[in-house]
Amino acid sequence: MPTREIRKQLLAKVHRVVIKLGSYVLTTPAGRLDRKVFTDVAQTVVRLRARGIDCILVSSGAIASGIGRLGLKARPRHIEQEQAAAAIGQIRLMGLYDRLFTKYSMPVAQILLTHGDVRDRRRFLSARQTLNSVLTYGAVPIINENDTTVVDEIRFGDNDYLSSLVTNLAQADLLVILTDIDGFYDSDPRVNPEARLIGLLDDINEDIEKCACGPAGKVGRGGMATKLKAAKTAASFGIPTVIANGKKPGTLRAVFDGEPVGTLILPKKNKLTGRKHWIAYTLKPQGALVLDDGARDALEQRLRSLLPSGIVSVEGDFDAGECVSCRDGSGREFARGLTAYSSEAVNKIKGLKTEQISTALGRPVNREVIHRDDLVVFSALK
Ligand code: GLU
Repeated sequence: MPTREIRKQLLAKVHRVVIKLGSYVLTTPAGRLDRKVFTDVAQTVVRLRARGIDCILVSSGAIASGIGRLGLKARPRHIEQEQAAAAIGQIRLMGLYDRLFTKYSMPVAQILLTHGDVRDRRRFLSARQTLNSVLTYGAVPIINENDTTVVDEIRFGDNDYLSSLVTNLAQADLLVILTDIDGFYDSDPRVNPEARLIGLLDDINEDIEKCACGPAGKVGRGGMATKLKAAKTAASFGIPTVIANGKKPGTLRAVFDGEPVGTLILPKKNKLTGRKHWIAYTLKPQGALVLDDGARDALEQRLRSLLPSGIVSVEGDFDAGECVSCRDGSGREFARGLTAYSSEAVNKIKGLKTEQISTALGRPVNREVIHRDDLVVFSALK
């Protein structure tokens, strides 16, 4: 099917979109907020709302704008200085959004998140309700990482990843990542003048990932690799992603008019439920279970629960209820899930048959270490 037709069909189903705006898109090389880009985005969002499409922005640019406001030549080296720059820049960023959307009588809502806000299922669901209320009020939610208070343990790291998690949080049906290059190329266009823009990707496999190893810039955190990872995460939630050049005027509008701009990444057909997607992508594994071939096949091919008998070894310290990786003997992570046992308990029962585990732990227990309802097998995502 021609790309235009594919885009049209996908766009016809879109009621809610997450639009991620990178630092380079939103700022000029001199570090000022690029008013032209903001105006273009605001006008398109207003148009999309008139078409009944909810828009959620994930906006970078706080640190870049803070650096510009402070007249610094480069990103500060110390974390507390960077956090101060984010605090100074974030308010300028929101000030500009507020002024522009006010022209269209549309309120904006600032939502600053850390990973701590979404890794707890109750807080995740409560953030979802807040987001829905903001949209019901007719406001535009503008999300960023809470750079000023974040510490490593609760960091998303980059806004590409954050935007991919927001697709699940917001139950969106499209992710648009606006960056400062035209889309995904088969090699780095800054190095190779022959590099070819790929308009359509139906799968992000290892070969594709290898093409995306260009570095991140000076003021943003992501590069093409983090964008592809975000698209892959969105794809397993069953939603497409468009990566396009937000520096070029009219790009966002062109995306929604179905024009072949940027790179469209198609969704997976058998998508994960919101809860399983949260387990696989929002949670960060706190440890790993290394499985024998029999257990690997039971999980990968027969989609069974994980029993203690197939566990060869345990890595890391984790509590019952936390997310862990499942690896095979070669170190490949092929599944993730919520463990019913702590690392200490799994160490006592690994390799044991079901009838032996109650004796080993001295209490009556569940037979599964990870129940299949709490397990995501990556190779099953086609
Ligand atoms: N949250 C950062 C900011 O607003 C940007 C992170 C990123 O570039 O991904 O400046």
